[in-house]
Amino acid sequence: MATYTPPLTPPSEPTKRLKNLEPEPIDINIPDNYVQHTLKTQKELPPITWSNWYRELQWISVLALTITPALAIYGAFTTKLTWQTGLFSVFYYYVTGLGITAGYHRLWAHRSYNASKPLQYFLALAGSGAVEGSIKWWSRGHRAHHRYTDTELDPYSAQKGFWWSHVGWMLFKPRRKPGVADVSDLSRNEVVRWQHRWYVWLILGMGFGLPTVVPGLLWGDWWGGFFYAGALRLTFVHHSTFCVNSLAHWLGETPFDDKHTPRDHVITALVTIGEGYHNFHHQFPMDYRNAIKWYQYDPTKWFIMACQWVGLASHLKTFPDNEVRKGQLTMQLKRLRETQEKLTWAPDSNDLPIVSWDSFQEQSAKRPLILIAGFIHDVASFLDEHPGGRHLLVKYIGKDATTAFFGGVYDHSNAAHNLLSMHRVGILQHGYRQSLDDKAIPPAQRLRIARYNELGSSTAVSDAETLVGEKEEKEA
Ligand SMILES: [Zn+2]
Ligand SMILES: [Zn+2]
Repeated sequence: MATYTPPLTPPSEPTKRLKNLEPEPIDINIPDNYVQHTLKTQKELPPITWSNWYRELQWISVLALTITPALAIYGAFTTKLTWQTGLFSVFYYYVTGLGITAGYHRLWAHRSYNASKPLQYFLALAGSGAVEGSIKWWSRGHRAHHRYTDTELDPYSAQKGFWWSHVGWMLFKPRRKPGVADVSDLSRNEVVRWQHRWYVWLILGMGFGLPTVVPGLLWGDWWGGFFYAGALRLTFVHHSTFCVNSLAHWLGETPFDDKHTPRDHVITALVTIGEGYHNFHHQFPMDYRNAIKWYQYDPTKWFIMACQWVGLASHLKTFPDNEVRKGQLTMQLKRLRETQEKLTWAPDSNDLPIVSWDSFQEQSAKRPLILIAGFIHDVASFLDEHPGGRHLLVKYIGKDATTAFFGGVYDHSNAAHNLLSMHRVGILQHGYRQSLDDKAIPPAQRLRIARYNELGSSTAVSDAETLVGEKEEKEA
């Protein structure tokens, strides 16, 4: 005999973890109600106010984020910008920006592809030139941002305002620790460890040293290199990547999900080297792409693809297209549902009185009632509007005009059928097997957006008599 229960997956090999040598995932023993538990038990620093803000500053970030633009402004007024230094500054902006977007973000924080050692060292160096903290610190915060998006445990929650998510979270001491996120994989990574260890030297060398030395040695523009390729370029890299936390959670559309703040917008993409399709990114964070359409601006994706072509990157992860489209469809249906709800529809069958033939006859003597597809319609307001003339309607008062309406006299349009349904005032007892016939459902209501818990209660009544019976049984 066949076994119908599917066999359980055989137990996997117990993980061979070398105790004390390899770090354990930090979140392996967290309680099931971690978020609630932490919010309740963890102490939060008091909110920043006009009276305490100067005591709450994080001086290292404050200095880095004020001295850099100050140097850039001073340089702009005192040093002539040569075209060579100008071009190099733009080029170096992209190099260091990609260090963050392709390196810190998509490679290390999200593991969306595999990078060879040379590429990893390049990205670690380039990322250091963006002066945004070490890979390990940055990725730890970013993983918390994805795991606890928009909550108190999100280190740069967009719920706390545009400027807080842009720079405020760095300028002030965090009000609470970011939610737990494991980075044990990064602690094991040789390149990440190397960068963390030499970080101070790397930011001096890559942030200011290299951009000064290259223009200095090659075309003798030492100060131009320092001010433009160093300070001004760094100011731009800072605020462009910060826009991923601020602008990308404020500006644009939500084509994949609207549960949280992340949004898609081409402007954000343009200023962030392609990180602007942030609604997609928060839904599918392990996808190496941010933009899925070929014409959308995502140089970070193009860079990773190019690295794959030359053999420096592999295992580029993409989310199954089928699942991506489900998200899109959900959002499209939501918008259609809103449109559907704004329209006025024919009265629900369950709300209409069930009328006997005799009563229908009696009432037709007092007002113009016409029977079509089991529904009784009051056409008083429509008599003079009827394109075929008043006489054709009057002829059917107190009668069944189903055949005439559906082609016997004139095959009415869908619009006419929709309009007719708006005049429904009752249902004829034993009148019509309504759910079995398209004629009973106005064309605009045959395909509708319904929530899963609404699907049981159809607007069409299967049989007036049974329904009345059922109702009475339930009430009894
Ligand atoms: Zn985000
Ligand atoms: Zn991310």
